[in-house]
Amino acid sequence: MADTIFSRIIRGEIPARIVHDDDICLGFHDVAPQAPVHILVIPKHVIPSLAAVTEPDGPLLGHLLVVATKLARSLGLAEGYRLVINCGRDGGQTVDHLHVHLLGGRAMGWPPG
Ligand code: AMP
Repeated sequence: MADTIFSRIIRGEIPARIVHDDDICLGFHDVAPQAPVHILVIPKHVIPSLAAVTEPDGPLLGHLLVVATKLARSLGLAEGYRLVINCGRDGGQTVDHLHVHLLGGRAMGWPPG
């Protein structure tokens, strides 16, 4: 499996503004924020995309969502926020390492672009 920039962040080879670190996942600020708060939550075990997820990944996916919601709370996003997982080319995924975007701090439009 090809190494991505996120694997390098997990290994500490390139810097990131880390806001969460546990045995299962890492949370850090997106380098090109699309909202006042833009955090990425990524599993330390590499899954390339949602398209590669299988049944045993369920608890891991649940953990990513729980961590993202805890971060939303701790970052004061009381008015709401959005979690996004882009999948594949049409989904707008650019890094082949599954990740949850936590976006907040402004009102979001719908439908997304
Ligand atoms: P996606 O388009 O859903 O694959 O999201 C990839 C995200 O990774 C984008 O929002 C990028 O801005 C972000 N990103 C790329 N490189 C880095 C980096 N070195 N540190 C933090 N975020 C990054």
